[in-house]
Amino acid sequence: MIIAAAGGHNLLMIGPPGCGKSMLAQCFPGLLPPLYDEELLEVVKIHSSCGMPVKSLLNGQRPFRSPHHVISDVGLIGGGTNPRPGEISLAHHGVLFLDEFPEFRRTALEGMRAPLETGQVSIVRARGAFDYPAQFQLIAAMNPCPCGRLGVKDSRCNCSAASIQSYLKKLSQPILDRIDMHVELQAVPLESIGSSSRDSDEVEAAQTDQIISEIAIARDLQFHRQKALNATLDGKGILGSQSVDPKALNLLERSANRIGFSARTFVRLLRVGRTIADLDGESIIRTQHIAEAISLRSLERISNLVQAA
Ligand SMILES: [Zn+2]
Repeated sequence: MIIAAAGGHNLLMIGPPGCGKSMLAQCFPGLLPPLYDEELLEVVKIHSSCGMPVKSLLNGQRPFRSPHHVISDVGLIGGGTNPRPGEISLAHHGVLFLDEFPEFRRTALEGMRAPLETGQVSIVRARGAFDYPAQFQLIAAMNPCPCGRLGVKDSRCNCSAASIQSYLKKLSQPILDRIDMHVELQAVPLESIGSSSRDSDEVEAAQTDQIISEIAIARDLQFHRQKALNATLDGKGILGSQSVDPKALNLLERSANRIGFSARTFVRLLRVGRTIADLDGESIIRTQHIAEAISLRSLERISNLVQAA
């Protein structure tokens, strides 16, 4: 979550039901800096045009939208007879959380492809085209398989390889290509939750403040260096800046061949590696940064596992 917040990376969480995916997503906007003035104006404009409350926005809080997976294409992307912005525009400069990601209508998810690249959505109607801003950070969540127990300690998944395959296939490669990080989560044992005391609450609050300030420092560094978050960089920009350790690049190339990463994934790994290096205060992307970025691409591994089964 820290890496995603620091670099603006889209994130997919994969884990069994009840492992805290929704809770983590809801905490996520709190890790981000408050809305800047120009951002605030754009966001208030969209929300008030839909007759929605703007009080929390005026306090600097970034939008957090979490539509249910039964939402229509128009509801998610925008449009309609009297065109209006969809959830992706209401999440502009904030977070769009899509729980049960593979359950969303395929056409709705595919409609996000262009906005995820360009940060805006164009809706063409007989009486003209409407452009709405849609620069949002996507946080998605899914179970590892239809029953939710694949890879969960001390429990048994009873899904067939074919049903897991078709579940994973609901997510098209172009959509997955637009998500920088896939992270596997495990359920937390109950006994490790209950032991919260006043002291540990204070320690936790101090740790949270520390995390928020690390994220803010990493984001400032990026705006200072390239006037944009790492999530928007292209491969040439990163490789051309001579800021990748040759050993790290070598590791990336070897993994790409072994695991079969696409060219887009290669760039995503460089971006995430850049963010991890920024959080470390390093100007050079080193082997450990790339190794960590590769470890945050679970879906390729899960997909390979299922194919091998
Ligand atoms: Zn299962």
